[in-house]
Amino acid sequence: MTQLHLDLKKLTHNFTTLKGRLKATTKIMAVVKADAYGLGAIALSKHLISLGTDWLAVAYAQEGITLRKAGIDCPIVVFYPQFERIDSIINNNLEPALFSTAFIEAFATALKQKKRMNYPVHLKCNTGLNRIGLSASEVDDFLTKKNDYPFRLKSVYSHLGASEDPRPNTFTQKQITSFLAIKKKVEKTFTNPPLFHLLNTSGVFNYPEFQMDLVRIGIGLYGFANRAEWDQLLQPIANLSSRVVQIHLVQKGESVGYNQGWIAQKESRIGVLPLGHADGISRQFGKGVGGVWINGKRAPIVGNVCMDMLMVDLTEIDCEPLDPAMLFDHLHTAHEFAEQAGTISYELLTSLSPRIQRVINN
Ligand SMILES: *Cc1c(COP(=O)(O)O)cnc(C)c1O
Repeated sequence: MTQLHLDLKKLTHNFTTLKGRLKATTKIMAVVKADAYGLGAIALSKHLISLGTDWLAVAYAQEGITLRKAGIDCPIVVFYPQFERIDSIINNNLEPALFSTAFIEAFATALKQKKRMNYPVHLKCNTGLNRIGLSASEVDDFLTKKNDYPFRLKSVYSHLGASEDPRPNTFTQKQITSFLAIKKKVEKTFTNPPLFHLLNTSGVFNYPEFQMDLVRIGIGLYGFANRAEWDQLLQPIANLSSRVVQIHLVQKGESVGYNQGWIAQKESRIGVLPLGHADGISRQFGKGVGGVWINGKRAPIVGNVCMDMLMVDLTEIDCEPLDPAMLFDHLHTAHEFAEQAGTISYELLTSLSPRIQRVINN
């Protein structure tokens, strides 16, 4: 009943559009963490590889292992490797981002025990986001000891915390300056320097002059870029649709849903849709927040969103049971839908539960 339709042609459009904004030599790392932002990492990764992505990136090792088990053998970076997953990272040929001195030492020890040399790794630097990453002085320590490590350093990167904010931006400028200083030092230390990268999707639009060797694109592939004028250049690849499973005639004064979340002000027709907060439609929706599209008209979500169902007001809409209901598509986007509940497309999409059927359209 409830289906998430994924359009591979739109994925191609987004990949090509983003690539078209870059120098021909700039490489692309397609970010497919969190099951490709909730849309389905295996199918989308295979398509992204066919389009020519140079790398895939996941957040946690387990996500990389899932891709390996599906037969994907391209380079996969793990942005947030965990100490307890070091063995499985190595056994599955995943490339960790080294983010702390403790992790560097633990990973080097594990490689030495396995008698592995030249293992591909990436260095994650903290330049102001203060999430994970090595400080500039920790990078210095790494460079001093680099020949003792069984690593092949493939890239060095940092992550911008406000790449979508209007320019000029002092915070971003400071991050860029810090990263350029690190870059210079690393370049001096290597005869064959690694790749350098800084930009996510919004960065590609806002700071193209800092694309360096590689960009890490996530949300843009799926059709969003955190600013209306950039969104227009992309196409949301996912449509979430469902169907009206039942219609009730509700008299004035009757209530709908748990805790009488909605009271009919007049005789009303209430439709029930088979998806709820367990499917990723947050309880921030409902009670006047958010609506779905049925036969071209907007049906407001009424009352509290239940775990497996939600109710909509159909009083003004001509419709019957089993008529399709659209939650978001390319016209009424996931970004707009998310915004009504005070969140962002990233959170809405990654919350869509696995029990929603994914349908791939070629
Ligand atoms: C998630 C992530 C990205 C992708 O960001 P988008 O805004 O989705 O393009 C890039 N780099 C890192 C380190 C990330 O964690």
